Amino acid sequence: METVTTPKIKTLRSPSTRIHEVDFTNLPFGRIFSDHMLVADCKDGSWSEPQIVPFGTIPVLPCMTSLHYGQAIFEGMKAFKQPNGNAVLFRPEENYARMNHSAWRLCMPEVPHEIFVDGMKELVQLDNQWIPRTEGSALYIRPFMFATDEYVGIKPSDNYKFIIFSCPVGAYYPEPVALWVSRNFVRAVEGGTGEAKAAGNYAGGLIGQKRAKKRGYHSVLWLDAQSRKYVEECGTMNIFFVIDGVLITPELTGTILKGVTRDSILTLAKGLGIPAEVRRIKIKEIQAAWQQGRLQEAFGTGTAAVISHVVKIGYRKIVMELPPVEERKIGNALLAKLNDIRMGRVEDEHQWIVKV
Ligand SMILES: *Cc1c(COP(=O)(O)O)cnc(C)c1O
Repeated sequence: METVTTPKIKTLRSPSTRIHEVDFTNLPFGRIFSDHMLVADCKDGSWSEPQIVPFGTIPVLPCMTSLHYGQAIFEGMKAFKQPNGNAVLFRPEENYARMNHSAWRLCMPEVPHEIFVDGMKELVQLDNQWIPRTEGSALYIRPFMFATDEYVGIKPSDNYKFIIFSCPVGAYYPEPVALWVSRNFVRAVEGGTGEAKAAGNYAGGLIGQKRAKKRGYHSVLWLDAQSRKYVEECGTMNIFFVIDGVLITPELTGTILKGVTRDSILTLAKGLGIPAEVRRIKIKEIQAAWQQGRLQEAFGTGTAAVISHVVKIGYRKIVMELPPVEERKIGNALLAKLNDIRMGRVEDEHQWIVKV
């Protein structure tokens, strides 16, 4: 039976919509924003009632603490429109849990479920016309929280702002990526913030990305900070390899972001009977497998692209060219399965789809 939900969140509707200005056949990633956003404030540990308001500027003083010391975290997820017209979220509880794990690491307050999950549902429902309908396209949702104390001193802030806004994003035909192995720079260290989606992690990673680009690669393949031997992540995605038909991804050691896509891929691999190993993996092992012709596939996983095939890995003087993308049986099978679940074409046996 259809349950009818009445809006619970105080909403100030935008007097007009910008939706008619948008070319939905040509959506750049992350540059077009839907009409509304959800805002909630936390003061000394207690949260205000969230409000949905028109997407727009927020007042900021130059002394706002997060601008200086980076007490800021975020999440990234997507809403889809299924062929039957249902607007759905993919595993929102996982993002909610991760947001609060990040909050814990950065000494920020826990975000209530009613604000993050229920608030997101209402926001997406209100702007549901902004969810593109073409297969592969989606409404990218960006929840984030930052410290708002007006104080130039280092301590956990007493005040925080939590916001959710969204961007319609086009069918992502992920261009296969070439990865450069960084040996000079690392993304995360043991005991650091690598497992949190902390704003500063991404600023710290830019230089690796820049160096990779300078060498003609798209993105960086990060190694562990301590030994510079083990593969950790690529760019802002988790990394998978296929060697001799076995799917391999690095185990979570505290320096790797716990990707929702990563977890979904591992779960689907199990269901499809694809052997999988979750363990530390040396770049030398990848190199040896490549030299012996046993490295069949490599791909990155993340909400934005789901799966990005890796076509080339540059490590020191070695350039590892991988087999053509069309031959990638495992990555492509997993991608198809995940898309089928998201579009409601197959049974959602893991209850990953949540209607808004
Ligand atoms: C967000 C992110 C991922 C992917 O996580 P998903 O939940 O799959 O989107 C992987 N690595 C890093 C560093 C990330 O920030």
